[in-house]
Amino acid sequence: MQETSINNLAKANEKKQLMKDLGITPERLDPAEKARRNPNSRRQAIYAKCWDCCCEQSKEIRLCPSVDCSLFRFRPYQPQKRE
Ligand code: SF4
Repeated sequence: MQETSINNLAKANEKKQLMKDLGITPERLDPAEKARRNPNSRRQAIYAKCWDCCCEQSKEIRLCPSVDCSLFRFRPYQPQKRE
């Protein structure tokens, strides 16, 4: 698991360096724009809804107290559960 994460990080860094060498500046998209560009992604739609609901503050999504919301279980940035 950890080795896979390190490999993925190395690949991401290689890709980032390649884009930098080619003079390509990566686009930074907010969750709403990501959802607009990926209309079939449920995950992106949930991120966008929570991001909008919390006034574009990801920290607030983590602290969301609305357990009655149907997206509560699926909201991003949840604290890690400890076993
Ligand atoms: S889970 Fe919380 S942050 Fe996400 S939409 Fe529901 S109330 Fe808003």
